[in-house]
Amino acid sequence: MTDTNTNLIKPMLETIYPVIDYGKGVYLYDKSGKEYLDASSGAITANIGHGVKEIIDAMNEQAKRVSFVYRSQFTSEAAENLAKKIAELAIGDLNWSFFVNSGSEATETAMKIAIQYWQEKGIFTKNKVLSRWMSYHGITLGALSMSGHTGRRARFIPLLEDFPVIHPPYCYRCPYNRKAPECGYVCAQELDTVIKRIGAEQIAAFIAEPIIGASGGAITPPKDYYRVIKEICERNNILFIADEVMTGFGRTGPMLACEHWDIEPDIVALGKGMGAGYAPIAAALVSDRIMEPILTGSKIVMSGHTLSANPQSCAVSLAVLEYLDKKKIMKEVAGKGAYLIKELERLQEQYPIIGDIRGKGLMIGLEFVQNQKDKTPFPRAFLLTQKLIQYAERCGIIIYPAGAGIDGVNGDAILIAPPLTIKTVEIDELVKRFHQALKMLT
Ligand code: PLP
Repeated sequence: MTDTNTNLIKPMLETIYPVIDYGKGVYLYDKSGKEYLDASSGAITANIGHGVKEIIDAMNEQAKRVSFVYRSQFTSEAAENLAKKIAELAIGDLNWSFFVNSGSEATETAMKIAIQYWQEKGIFTKNKVLSRWMSYHGITLGALSMSGHTGRRARFIPLLEDFPVIHPPYCYRCPYNRKAPECGYVCAQELDTVIKRIGAEQIAAFIAEPIIGASGGAITPPKDYYRVIKEICERNNILFIADEVMTGFGRTGPMLACEHWDIEPDIVALGKGMGAGYAPIAAALVSDRIMEPILTGSKIVMSGHTLSANPQSCAVSLAVLEYLDKKKIMKEVAGKGAYLIKELERLQEQYPIIGDIRGKGLMIGLEFVQNQKDKTPFPRAFLLTQKLIQYAERCGIIIYPAGAGIDGVNGDAILIAPPLTIKTVEIDELVKRFHQALKMLT
């Protein structure tokens, strides 16, 4: 049983979280028989829904063959085939996968590879990674250092080596009070200013989520934002790391969200939807040009975990990718997302507390305000979203909190991100249940 205060599993007399008995498609069922529509895919993870036979079969098959081999002694067909499949589906020359077990490990590995790349080229000063506020790159200390999630940073500041340096592309509340594209992408230009201040010779990479997830609620940049960012990175010899832990594997439609803006990152962090919740797996995906000096130099990526590339997780992830591919699921995400947004916009007309609806594909954020016109945030917005989440659960729908802190400005969003396999009738059911929760709140 789980204690919500400590998050520790311990024997308790009273269960606080419902105990889930089983899952089927977009639905979860608890021990009392209550049904929940999983409108957040857990933590934006169960991308193909629950109980998919093909994945369970792949797990069983792999378990019968071998569950574990150690990565510096052996490889496995599952790991090799997964790496091949990812390279086939990923844009550009992102042809190398380094498998790990969580999104935090993936972003840390990506940052380490960036630093190692410069070292292999004989440049030992480029050790810093730059990032944005209102971002989330993971809970481990290196990833948290780069994260702009103030709530998750607060307790551990003494242990954090660094902090984000620029604003996010948060157009709904632009800190410059400007509008794209006339703004000239001032928030992206900040990167250039910071690089000049610190010195490009100190900086290995810039890391960003293509669409900001947990820290902002699907904050989606305007059209040319990443073109400007990429140009600044290239001009200054700084690598661009796309943290696609939440956005990757078709969550926003294409395999990688970077495709929306036609940009090719040097390194990509993947996670969450990669195992779709069936097994822990994540990866740093690296381009040929970044691997080249490592392959001709030390020949070894200086990172790794005991369970990196374990065959069981790789077999699951390969089965997930094949399932997505065979059923052409990614191709339907844009249409499903547009339909869901249209339905949510109908609710927005009735509920003025819905200030902004944003996102791409099936990664949709809603930000709540006291007043749609002047966008006044709720004084303790975090409490409002928590209440809405509780009401939603009572109405049989699971939604996900998003917001960088409890400071009353950006703790006030939620994510709606159901499994990519959701059907139109299930989207209608989702909207119906969410509407009931809104009614309870207002
Ligand atoms: N990066 C992004 C964009 C995320 O959304 C998350 C998790 O929410 C992470 C990294 C960390 O992933 P994990 O929780 O699997 O360590």
